[in-house]
Amino acid sequence: MSENIVKVDSLVKRYGENIAVDHFSLEVKKGEILGLLGPNGSGKTTTINCILSLLNYDKGSIEVFGQKMSPERFDLKRRIGVVPQNVAVLNALTVEENIDFFCGLYLFIIRLSCFIYIKDKAERKACIEEALEFTGLTEFRKQKPKKLSGGLLRRLNIACGIAHKPELIFFDEPTVAVDPQSRNAILEGIRKMNEQGSTVIYTSHYMEEVEELCSRIVIMDHGKNEAEGTSQSLKSSLRNRETIRINMPVHEKELLDQIRNINHVYDVRIDEEDVIIKCDGGEHNLVHILNFLSEKQLPFGRVTTELPTLNDVFLEITGKELRD
Ligand code: ADP
Ligand code: MG
Repeated sequence: MSENIVKVDSLVKRYGENIAVDHFSLEVKKGEILGLLGPNGSGKTTTINCILSLLNYDKGSIEVFGQKMSPERFDLKRRIGVVPQNVAVLNALTVEENIDFFCGLYLFIIRLSCFIYIKDKAERKACIEEALEFTGLTEFRKQKPKKLSGGLLRRLNIACGIAHKPELIFFDEPTVAVDPQSRNAILEGIRKMNEQGSTVIYTSHYMEEVEELCSRIVIMDHGKNEAEGTSQSLKSSLRNRETIRINMPVHEKELLDQIRNINHVYDVRIDEEDVIIKCDGGEHNLVHILNFLSEKQLPFGRVTTELPTLNDVFLEITGKELRD
């Protein structure tokens, strides 16, 4: 069993009457990219801020690197990087100076606790160069943040959070309102950092991203850990494993019953001019169904097949769509 980098046990955080985090538990192992997937307001940022000891919480316990986390544990915090949801850079400084500033005097989410840790100038210089390269900002190094596009600003936000080579990095929705090119650069950068040994916690409400990037996913809603697993295992927990849609005329109800008798088919219904067939497993459902239609010499038009998505998992658990 690999070591726990983060262990959250039954965390509760209230804002007055509103319960933002509701008995939330989480374990993150060394080397993972853990995706915290949930709609806006589900408690992702609050959870992160509690883990970082930037927020007091009402109940529960939090360990980081196997030790109890608290606001004064600078020895633990220095091993952590944070890319906050809201861009936190200094407008008076250039790109390069910003990275230098955060690398030397690392302000945690521009709040409360600041501390100095990479004092050695040469070491810091090397870190800055690497962070510039990593985020593709080398050619913008002399620019001020106000001159950067939204995507580049997000990349600078990331460079400031990772330059000190943290063992554990939190990315809080780093791709919101980012152009596709910067988005790909960001995801690629996260993958590289992980390959170089950093454990990553990545929050997002974009399921495609989480699916592409994360080795394990926690689905969060109303402050609760609703489900967790790999993208594959989460989808395998659904009854629906494939939905086939066939444009065809149906003249007899009997036909639907016959389709329902095909192996793995558990639901058949008509949607306007299409027949929608749901299957609960099987590898060759489409072949079996099309063979059946040819045997019966039944005409049909467009055929599509869809595999379940994380949105379907979310829908089944919460009864609502994950998408905004
Ligand atoms: P997410 O990051 O998943 O979008 P948040 O952690 O920001 O969710 O918010 C979780 C819940 O806590 C929401 O209902 C939000 O309105 C509430 N909340 C967050 N921050 C505060 C705050 N500073 N004061 C009061 N309520 C807050
Ligand atoms: Mg948030």
